[in-house]
Amino acid sequence: MTPAAWTNADLHCHSCVSDGTLEPEALAARAQANGVELWALTDHDEIGGQQRARQAAQALGLPYLTGVEISVTFAGVTVHIVGLGVDPDNVALVQGLANTRDGRIARAQEMAAELAQVGIPGAFEGALNYAGNPELIARTHFARYMVETGYCASTHEVFRKYLVEGKPGFVEHRWAKLGDAVTWITQSGGIAVIAHPGRYKLTVNEEFALFTEFKAHGGRGVEVVTGSHTSADFAKYADMAIELDLLASRGSDFHSPEESRTDLGTLPALPVRLTPVWEALTDRVQRPDHR
Ligand code: AMP
Ligand code: MN
Ligand code: MN
Ligand code: MN
Repeated sequence: MTPAAWTNADLHCHSCVSDGTLEPEALAARAQANGVELWALTDHDEIGGQQRARQAAQALGLPYLTGVEISVTFAGVTVHIVGLGVDPDNVALVQGLANTRDGRIARAQEMAAELAQVGIPGAFEGALNYAGNPELIARTHFARYMVETGYCASTHEVFRKYLVEGKPGFVEHRWAKLGDAVTWITQSGGIAVIAHPGRYKLTVNEEFALFTEFKAHGGRGVEVVTGSHTSADFAKYADMAIELDLLASRGSDFHSPEESRTDLGTLPALPVRLTPVWEALTDRVQRPDHR
């Protein structure tokens, strides 16, 4: 099948190399079982799972794009930028991601200290137990620990009560700069995509500034159909992709069979009036027969 005929691309998900619960190989198998035609693993701030994901996909005959999801601080808000088709051996990208991961341990210790003050001891060690990759210790791992120990019934409840701004386990953190993240992605041969824009609580002006600066730095895509969007968001960001001449991406943001509402490969197709980001990445797609 040619790239233009693909509709079931899933270009956003997480393995246990970041804050997902499945191994890269299990995700590849799940993607294929769910009918995904083009897949990318996009762990947070980390490309340590790329080789395993690519090899597993190739063994299954599943076309693959390298991927990453970079944490960025923009106008005081955390924004995620997905990079697709990046070169995992690019020195600036590798170094930039290492710098972005740096500080997660100290942040986690501060979060744990705050949680201890509200009567939840041992959260650092508890969260670390859930982190397949200690450098990637994330709020998600705290949430899993606090569900396991019975403080909350679900990870969503943990976020609502403890881990978001204004709550006792939230620690302000400075991530990568927008321009740096876009540059690492672009200069390593990839395309930068604004992840799930519907999730940021930005004003109209702030959102416009995000999209404008992103484009000025060389960003070219936006996630339109994602597990983090409502159908109203699908329509809104489809319009924005057209207005701002951006390529459109699609991805479940799958993390775990137990926690994620949207499974790999199960979202609606991109609206046909949009240009899929993978049409601009055909030379970066790793196919089983083109090693
Ligand atoms: P961190 O990079 O440590 O700030 O953690 C961010 C991760 O937490 C995201 O990638 C999601 O996986 C997860 N997350 C954020 N908000 C929520 C929420 N409201 N419910 C469940 N998981 C969330
Ligand atoms: Mn996550
Ligand atoms: Mn994200
Ligand atoms: Mn994600």
